[in-house]
Amino acid sequence: MPAKMFSDGEMVMGRWPGSQLYYEVRVTGYNKSTQLYAVKYKDGTELNLKESDVKPLNYFKTKKRSISRQRSRSRSRSPARTQTPKRSTSRGREAKKPVQKEEVQKKDPPTTKFIHQLQENSTNSKTTPVTDFKEEKEENNTKKTYRVVEHKIRREIVTDQLGVPYSLRTKKEEGKVVELETKDDHLYIKKQVARTPEWEFGGRFGAFFIIFFLPITLVLLLLMCAQEDASVVNFPPPIPAVQTLWSSTALGIFVLWFLFQALLYLLPVGKIVDGVPLANGKKLQYRINAFYAFLLCGAALAAALYNEVNLSYIHNNLLQLAISAMVFSLVLSIYLYLRSWHVPTDELAAGGNSGSFVYDFFIGRELNPRIKNFDLKYFCELRPGLMGWVVINLGLLFAEMEMQQRDVPSLAMILVNSFQLLYVMDALWNEEAILTTMDIVHDGFGYMLAFGDLVWVPFVYSLQAFYLVNHPNELTWPVALTIIALNTVGYIIFRGANSQKNAFRRNPHDPKLAHLKTIPTATGRSLIVSGWWGFVRHPNYLGDLIMALAWSLPCGFNHIIPYFYIIYFTCLLVHREARDEHQCRKKYGVAWNKYCQQVRYRIFPYVY
Ligand code: NDP
Repeated sequence: MPAKMFSDGEMVMGRWPGSQLYYEVRVTGYNKSTQLYAVKYKDGTELNLKESDVKPLNYFKTKKRSISRQRSRSRSRSPARTQTPKRSTSRGREAKKPVQKEEVQKKDPPTTKFIHQLQENSTNSKTTPVTDFKEEKEENNTKKTYRVVEHKIRREIVTDQLGVPYSLRTKKEEGKVVELETKDDHLYIKKQVARTPEWEFGGRFGAFFIIFFLPITLVLLLLMCAQEDASVVNFPPPIPAVQTLWSSTALGIFVLWFLFQALLYLLPVGKIVDGVPLANGKKLQYRINAFYAFLLCGAALAAALYNEVNLSYIHNNLLQLAISAMVFSLVLSIYLYLRSWHVPTDELAAGGNSGSFVYDFFIGRELNPRIKNFDLKYFCELRPGLMGWVVINLGLLFAEMEMQQRDVPSLAMILVNSFQLLYVMDALWNEEAILTTMDIVHDGFGYMLAFGDLVWVPFVYSLQAFYLVNHPNELTWPVALTIIALNTVGYIIFRGANSQKNAFRRNPHDPKLAHLKTIPTATGRSLIVSGWWGFVRHPNYLGDLIMALAWSLPCGFNHIIPYFYIIYFTCLLVHREARDEHQCRKKYGVAWNKYCQQVRYRIFPYVY
């Protein structure tokens, strides 16, 4: 066990996680097993830091050369280095095997510039009390850091800043091993994503269960909804002959729909934006043109209706279409799993590399699978499934008119169609916002998302409209207006919360957001603690759930099937909130705890 370098109570310089900034901190403890120092910043923030992120108080006043050596050594970090006994003083540390002269000379210019920056930042930290720490200041410093760093070491810093939010967890938990090597005066970073340390969804057994449970549930729901008496008491519904479940035409239509959407995605219209920085320091680019695609789809649909294409086909073959989508998503998931073995390890999702075939197949191994510039996950998230949902709803609206011999659709059907159309259009209009969601940033692309995006969303979310085709529910205007008001309230909360967070994440210094109270975090990003995000910790989920209720109410209270969506969605969002909370606690540590203390309820005020 290496000796501890700093003693309890000692004032040292502690690195501010996620940045290159060092602040004065007091050592409050040392954990021998994790080899992490507990330190306290002047603002009271307490973190656990790796030894390499703790420097003696006079560290930045030492000669540049010796610091440069220090950095050169730390770059040569490899698993073997952990065997090297550590010295107990900083002087002893500098006495470590000297770096070859030639190497130092070659590396000195960029490194020295970088150290100047550290000194500058360190000085700043002394003149500016940590309690006055502002995200702006750190962002400015971060920008300065970027400017001075030459290309040879840039990758390392970017990776350090963005890839490994180290200080908030143990090395084991980080799930990532960074190995630095020097070769021909260039630094190469070998980034190896270690095995996924934490399993979600009940691990491999849970994943195995869900893979089969979801398709079976969907088939049963569609069969039950199609029954004259759609009661759960009538369970199980009669199962049709297997051969009637399959239709090559339905598969052909689904594939054509997918390809049509892909074609629209490739249209060179719409701006191109950067995604969030990846763990390897890269940023992917995305074209924002989903709303254009939607308008073109609308035009194509109008043309089809003008040419008397009968959209009731959708109702008559809903089960076959759903099964085609299932087969398609299964094939896609197999492809995604196989190709994930041919990509660099730093392109894998941190959560999808458990080593269990079933689990990784379900969660998704590769984070951003792309065929050239075609991003499969981003494409599937919003387009074939979401727009497919609108088309299915429309088909069911025509089916209702046909089945119930109406000249116009029922008020209930109009409400369901309009509410859900608004929801989809909102998602497409705000397409850019999806780039910061958990699905894009955190989850790999595997069966879970492929099935969710392509099958579950279009075929389960249209359940209310499907129900109304065979189970008319006449609404009075006062009831309809009450439901509209409910949906409006839900939408205002949902949109207000999402827009507020997106605007804040895009530009925390936007004068329009100046009224918001925030908590600084160790990563340099702040958490909003007033406005929508001070109401509950997930106001956007609350709004979404209120809307979900408004979508079900037009179906009346005769059966529970149209309420399946809100029941399922509540479970999904409660679970999703727990996942997000877990990620945020790892990311933001103490600051997240402070946020939770100030904003006590997760989704439902005074309830949960
Ligand atoms: P959110 O949009 O809620 O994003 C969560 C992230 O927001 C956190 O990881 C954190 O990331 C950031 N954050 C959390 N609290 C704060 C705060 N106080 N201040 C600033 N940032 C904060 O996540 P989702 O991707 O789950 O949801 C996006 C939308 O999609 C929601 O409206 C949801 O209802 C909807 N949705 C709909 C589904 C459907 O099937 N219809 C399914 C799933 C979601 P960071 O700090 O890194 O920015």
